Amino acid sequence: MDTGTYTIACECPECGGRVEFARAPLNGEVVRCAECAVELEVTSTQPLSVVLAPEVEEDWGE
Ligand SMILES: [Zn+2]
Repeated sequence: MDTGTYTIACECPECGGRVEFARAPLNGEVVRCAECAVELEVTSTQPLSVVLAPEVEEDWGE
């Protein structure tokens, strides 16, 4: 078995750039595209699928 040597990556739906994950992504996780800085939400991990994350108001207090 060959473990830990593969890279988890997907394509940014916004710019088509490569989005890499340092570790296994979680369903619902939000990541940022290194190419265009858009936020992406993981909607599926098997197979890996991401969508543009909805704009969320940062209203978490101070
Ligand atoms: Zn992008």
